[in-house]
Amino acid sequence: MPYLRLAIPSPLRRLFDYLPPAQCDLTELKPGVRVLVPFGRREVTGILLEVTETTEVPVNKLKPAISILDQQPPLPETLLKLARWAGNYYQHPLGDALSQALPVLLRKGEPCEYAHQHLWRAAKDASIDALGRSAARQRELLQLLLDHPQGISTDAIRAEGGQTPLLKKLEEKQLAESFIHKPDHQSHNNNPLHEAPLTLNQEQQKAVDSIIDKSGFAAHLLQGVTGSGKTEVYLQAIEHFIRAGKQALILVPEIGLTPQTVARFKARFNLQVVVLHSNLTDRQRLDAWLQAKEGIARIIIGTRSAIFTPMLHPGVIFIDEEHDTSFKQQEGFRYSARDLAVMRANYEKIPVVMGTATPSIESLHNAKQGRYNWLKLNQRAGNARPPQFELLDIKQLPLQDGLSTPLLQQIRSHLEQGTQVLIFLNRRGFAPTLMCHDCGWLADCRRCDAHMTLHRKPFHLHCHHCDSQRPVPTQCDSCGSTELKPVGAGTERTEEALKKLFPKFPIIRVDRDTTQRKHAMQQIMDRVHQGNPCILVGTQMLAKGHHFPKVTLVAILNADSGLFSADFRGMERTAQLILQVAGRAGRAEHPGKVVMQTHHADHPVINSLVNEGYEAFADQELNQRHGAQLPPLIHCAMLRAEANHQGRAERFLANLRNMLQEDILQPDGIQWLGPLPSPMEKRAGQFRAQLVLQSANRKALHLQLQSLTRIIDADPESRKVRWSIDVDPVDM
Ligand code: ADP
Ligand code: ZN
Ligand code: ZN
Repeated sequence: MPYLRLAIPSPLRRLFDYLPPAQCDLTELKPGVRVLVPFGRREVTGILLEVTETTEVPVNKLKPAISILDQQPPLPETLLKLARWAGNYYQHPLGDALSQALPVLLRKGEPCEYAHQHLWRAAKDASIDALGRSAARQRELLQLLLDHPQGISTDAIRAEGGQTPLLKKLEEKQLAESFIHKPDHQSHNNNPLHEAPLTLNQEQQKAVDSIIDKSGFAAHLLQGVTGSGKTEVYLQAIEHFIRAGKQALILVPEIGLTPQTVARFKARFNLQVVVLHSNLTDRQRLDAWLQAKEGIARIIIGTRSAIFTPMLHPGVIFIDEEHDTSFKQQEGFRYSARDLAVMRANYEKIPVVMGTATPSIESLHNAKQGRYNWLKLNQRAGNARPPQFELLDIKQLPLQDGLSTPLLQQIRSHLEQGTQVLIFLNRRGFAPTLMCHDCGWLADCRRCDAHMTLHRKPFHLHCHHCDSQRPVPTQCDSCGSTELKPVGAGTERTEEALKKLFPKFPIIRVDRDTTQRKHAMQQIMDRVHQGNPCILVGTQMLAKGHHFPKVTLVAILNADSGLFSADFRGMERTAQLILQVAGRAGRAEHPGKVVMQTHHADHPVINSLVNEGYEAFADQELNQRHGAQLPPLIHCAMLRAEANHQGRAERFLANLRNMLQEDILQPDGIQWLGPLPSPMEKRAGQFRAQLVLQSANRKALHLQLQSLTRIIDADPESRKVRWSIDVDPVDM
């Protein structure tokens, strides 16, 4: 008797066996197809892994599946393999990992096909003359159909002023007919390019040549200084694969923030480019996904989850800004899309290119070890020169809303020369907190170990960690004084100050609060690209790959803020952020200047970064990680737990550590750090703790994690806490 072994989206780390549905031809069943089954009181969509002859479940306990949903598996074999590998590697329940690799509608059991788009067209040989003079409306409508021989939707007919109720009349007279439209391949005779490519410089040419050099798998780290023309390298390498009939997948950190990147792809290629962004409806996403799967979409641009987009003719994968932490999912299925991209390229036997000006220390390590082919662009493209740095020592200087006098002078002089200025600070809102001038009380969040940020518009206190909000108090909670003062500066405050200081120039603020509306970022970009002198003030959103040809001065108001972080990656992040922000200066013919306000102008790391560049910094950083036995020299996993009583999560983890150490199967070479309270112990009312496991041996770590999940699943205490495993965590 055959059984269906299924992966089912659930927190349980096991597979489930079912009886085949009635009248099911088992010989036709392919692994990977979706199967609708009863699960508890619900019906869920599982994925068939195999048809087996044996089961450990008593046969009278087995339930029959309801129906087989697909003839062909929605995910091609390589992606099924990738999702299985990822579930296993990241210790995530397989059923859920597989389910997350599918578009939402497929998870819900919808058919794996396009939305049925009903279109209308004129019947064969239909002629206006068949309609009498009196039927003016019908004649107009028929003319509209005759003008659209490929078909037209009722929405489009309405938009053209046509009377859709009359369609039925035309149909009765056999002058019109409706049909179901399916997207189609574009004809291949077309030139794939809309616009001519730029002439590459030597470094760019070398990079393109290496990427397209040979068939098969290769992983490239494309390290190109800001403004070196990495995008042009992507475009020309992609052109090669397109001409060979292949598709390209490009992963980017956040599409909404960099509308320019997408625009450049669309401007270059005369082909179907699909963009998988967060504003798509589930239906639009499935349609785009199907177009990629059927090879109709030749270029696919998306964020993290797009790594699971199938391609009929995979050609190449790009990860733009590979250092960006948004490629690691921080909730649930904690995969790294960058690392999965390398794995996927390996399965698909295609090249993968990781591009950035500031490689992650992990990728740099891989390049140094020879696992990645290291491509470098050391020159800025065209006539642009590298920006010049100035460390501005603000010790003992008076600051006006965070701005020093020497900086203000430089801002003024750049604006007066007719160029643009960009001011970066890493806090949105008006001020990081509110303080009582009489007793020192701070406006803290009641649910987190954190201060609340003061916002002016609208006027309120806001916790950026748990999102709770409350009115701004008029009196101190502790002593009743009314002398409450904002402490420090956020983007709103700096914007306000700059408006007073430079009333003649537009001040454009860019942070999460000003870019929430749809197209807001595009509108801001359009304003900046008009080229008139202005001041841009904003958060790291300004650091993300933008090309601002008129910006000549970049100011970093508080360059020190990340220098003394508890996270061992604090320095790496600070260096990346500084260079990315700095990289917005002087990208065209005007030379760029970067002013960094700092209290630590002699800090060795900052100095090596600005004087010798990212690689010198990264070398030192890698040495330090070596000395301290930190990733990427060792491998690491983080076990997190949270509970609503203080101490409970920590006790849970301590207990777990004890149980594991008594385990006779304990692999060698595992180190344990903790459990310790998390750096912000209380967040959103939960008390959090963490336990780090590390090992130089990846396999030992993996084995340890497996026995760990087994123990946790069997431990009733685990139901009283929320816990998670994060393999290769990016924040610690
Ligand atoms: P990156 O992504 O490396 O920061 P971009 O790809 O945005 O750099 O390129 C910066 C600017 O240089 C863009 O305006 C781009 O059009 C231009 N550029 C790129 N390559 C060349 C080239 N070979 N010749 C002239 N201009 C180029
Ligand atoms: Zn007080
Ligand atoms: Zn909070």
